[in-house]
Amino acid sequence: MKIAIVGAGIGGLTAAALLHEQGHEVKVFEKNPQIKAIGAGIGIGNNVLEKLENHDLAKGIKNVGQLVRELEIRDHKDTLLSGIQFKKNTVNLTMKRQDLIEVIQSYVPDDAIYLDHLVTQVDNGDLKVTLHFSAQESETFDLCLGADGLHSEVRNQVTKDAKVQYQGYTVFRGMVEDMPFKADQVATEYWGRKGRVGIVPLLNNQAYWFIAINAKERDLTVQSYGKPHLQARFNHYPEQVRAVLDKQSETDILHHDMYDLKPLKTFVYQRTILLGDAAHATTPNMGQGAGQAMEDAIVLSQCLASYDFQQALERYDKLRVKHTAKVIKRSRRIGKIAQMRNGLMVGARNTIAKRIPLFMLNRQVNFLYKSKLK
Ligand SMILES: Cc1cc2nc3c(=O)[nH]c(=O)nc-3n(C[C@H](O)[C@H](O)[C@H](O)COP(=O)(O)OP(=O)(O)OC[C@H]3O[C@@H](n4cnc5c(N)ncnc54)[C@H](O)[C@@H]3O)c2cc1C
Repeated sequence: MKIAIVGAGIGGLTAAALLHEQGHEVKVFEKNPQIKAIGAGIGIGNNVLEKLENHDLAKGIKNVGQLVRELEIRDHKDTLLSGIQFKKNTVNLTMKRQDLIEVIQSYVPDDAIYLDHLVTQVDNGDLKVTLHFSAQESETFDLCLGADGLHSEVRNQVTKDAKVQYQGYTVFRGMVEDMPFKADQVATEYWGRKGRVGIVPLLNNQAYWFIAINAKERDLTVQSYGKPHLQARFNHYPEQVRAVLDKQSETDILHHDMYDLKPLKTFVYQRTILLGDAAHATTPNMGQGAGQAMEDAIVLSQCLASYDFQQALERYDKLRVKHTAKVIKRSRRIGKIAQMRNGLMVGARNTIAKRIPLFMLNRQVNFLYKSKLK
């Protein structure tokens, strides 16, 4: 089959790698002049690695990943509130986003990637789909995968049902070297009224961090925050938070408002399929955005290899729509709890968090590992 993939992000590249391997003629169209990995670090869980089974991609990802065994949640005074311990036989990794993109890209032939190709229109039909570009000639395919992210143009072209929703907080992110971790397999979040700070270990004593602050959408004051503002705001947080901000360079701090997508009823529209953030953008609270994008690509390639064309698309829709809706909703709920600011509510939340048994917390994430492959 001749397949167009719009977007050379984590989802699009994974789909390109797997579908090319199955013998399809794959073309990836990316609007930027280069493949950019905007972002600091990223987590890829056992849910993805297990689905890749013995594929070399899994080995490549393991090579660049730091094993994480535990997520601790503490208050701004460093008191342990809660946590999740990943099962002993599972592999949950964190890595630099750039490393992940490079590993995946190494499985896609260079001549299958078309940079500087902005898709502007999709003429979708029952048998074929034609893509139009801002500066190149149109081209017709058997199938188009819309892997063009949160504000997907492909999605806009095939459905009017999508609703991107601001979640009430904005996130700063960065990466530092020589982080003095007490335990390098433990990621920590500090929840306080000034905001939530996450510190996640990477290989070689590096770390990525994020800070989530409640704010209005596109709040100009918050957008102007640099390192000194963040240091001042979090100077009463634990030593580890102060250390990470001290080490952060002034110029490399990323900032994004946080959105998710109201769950769609379907990802399949005639000859166009949505995948990754274009289909189910979620808040980062479960660390599952990239993982779910990769799962989509793995499941789609397995379905295309196992069923006839129409059945494969139906199966993909059945396996991915409900599952990713659950991720969006659960992640949004965690965000609401983590971003509480009202003093009484925070006190109640912290008291409850300390009393919730570990197995109940683990249950919140166990469904991630149970999704089907085909
Ligand atoms: C603060 C934060 C922290 C996160 N942490 C994690 C984490 O720990 N773990 C995790 O799994 N996920 C995490 N995520 C989510 C993750 O980054 C995304 O879910 C993931 O990158 C989605 O991949 P994608 O391929 O679907 O889309 P994207 O990575 O957005 O890629 C889309 C690509 O499409 C291209 N494009 C867009 N429009 C067009 C067009 N019209 N024509 C051609 N090309 C186009 C873009 O340039 C881009 O390259 C986080 C996100 C944020 C914001």
